[in-house]
Amino acid sequence: MNTSSESFHVDSSRRSADESRLKKARNRVENFPYKKARDELLMWFYANGRHFPWRDDPTPYRVWISEIMLQQTTTQTVLGYFERFLERFPDPKALAAASEEEVLALWEGLGYYRRARALREAAIVMAERFDGRVPDCYDDLLSLPGVGRYCAGAILSFGYDKRAPILEANTTRLHTRLIALGVEPSTSAAQKLLWQAAENWLPRETSQTQTGDYRRINGALTDLGRLVCQPTAPKCDFCPIARFCAARKLGVQIELPNRRKRQAPIQKTDVAFWISRGDLKTSRVPSLPGAPESPTDVLIMRRPPWALWAGLWDFPRLEVVDPRFQQKDEWRFDPELADRLSLFLETEVGAPAESYRPGAALKLFRHSVTRYRVTLSLCRLENADPALAPVAAPSLFDVLPPTDAPLASPPEQLAPSPDAERLKNKPLALEWLWVPISDLKNRPLSSTGRKIARFIENWRDEGRR
Ligand code: SF4
Repeated sequence: MNTSSESFHVDSSRRSADESRLKKARNRVENFPYKKARDELLMWFYANGRHFPWRDDPTPYRVWISEIMLQQTTTQTVLGYFERFLERFPDPKALAAASEEEVLALWEGLGYYRRARALREAAIVMAERFDGRVPDCYDDLLSLPGVGRYCAGAILSFGYDKRAPILEANTTRLHTRLIALGVEPSTSAAQKLLWQAAENWLPRETSQTQTGDYRRINGALTDLGRLVCQPTAPKCDFCPIARFCAARKLGVQIELPNRRKRQAPIQKTDVAFWISRGDLKTSRVPSLPGAPESPTDVLIMRRPPWALWAGLWDFPRLEVVDPRFQQKDEWRFDPELADRLSLFLETEVGAPAESYRPGAALKLFRHSVTRYRVTLSLCRLENADPALAPVAAPSLFDVLPPTDAPLASPPEQLAPSPDAERLKNKPLALEWLWVPISDLKNRPLSSTGRKIARFIENWRDEGRR
């Protein structure tokens, strides 16, 4: 048998095993004793359910804001932001009337900033099409930016107490185990079955259903998944519905859900620049309106819509692409980076290369964004004229041990650019601004931008200029 027919054979036998597992799980969904399990689950929930501001006072608006904030973010972190956000924007109309910058400023530190922009855009739609209210029908909710199937179900069930299923990480794991679903839960057949299971837990509306039932049942399923049916060590001995759980009966609860292996993180090296107004002889960058100009003003840029942290402010930065210069703490300014910086500043801010030179690396920051593990060096740019140069900053080179293979040393001075004159009047592609250091604390910054701003503020407070 050749290789391709072998792989076809493996694929088709895997497919038929998956189909058989799906069939068994489908039977379990159809025959699950929902009523009995629900009664026991709710008893447990009355004694063990968690309390949150959006749960204890669940208006549709509060639920919507909390659900968006909770995406990819822990409850503990959201608690610090939720009331502050609600105080400033108490309803969709107030949120719709705010500027993007105002919303981002209150969101700073929560991460995934596209959520904040989507919230504001959705609030504008609510103000224009829904009389300033959070819609109470599934299709209208799905038409809003940033609202998907889970979020719509959460708003309907938690906010309006309507019969709407939800499925997120905790409930996916819980339902997968309850029905012993032995296939990867993100496949479309598995998703269909899991949504069906989630819906079956919610009784049809009759004279027997009580106010708050849908809200409670979905809350209880979420809490049970979070508190008891935990990812690596489910606490089955404390589970109120353990006797109905197929995975436990089969002894496979720890193996489920079947997940694809996570991809390894990618290492990345960036360098950010602290550029003071006094370090560039000229530039086409505007100043902050109303602020007196000072040589210590710093250059910042608004991150473009297609980039990470879109819409937030940041310090100019470049990615180090040459692997020789990606060696953790041994990063040094290299000629290739100097060329790119020169081109960057000439084309973006109209600063001729002869007016400055790359300065010392001052500090290393490390952070993670999705799959990336980023090492970021903060580098100072210095005025090329030694008479005007600021007080020399200590360099990382002073504190790091010398490396065995010395890297390129900083260039003495970059060559004048013949294009500088031509670039003088070119419109800026990105949004740039000179701002006083004291303005940085009021401005929405990327997470690493905030770390750099604190570093610069401390520097200034210590009187080091
Ligand atoms: S019995 Fe164990 S695996 Fe099953 S739902 Fe409860 S905690 Fe999860």
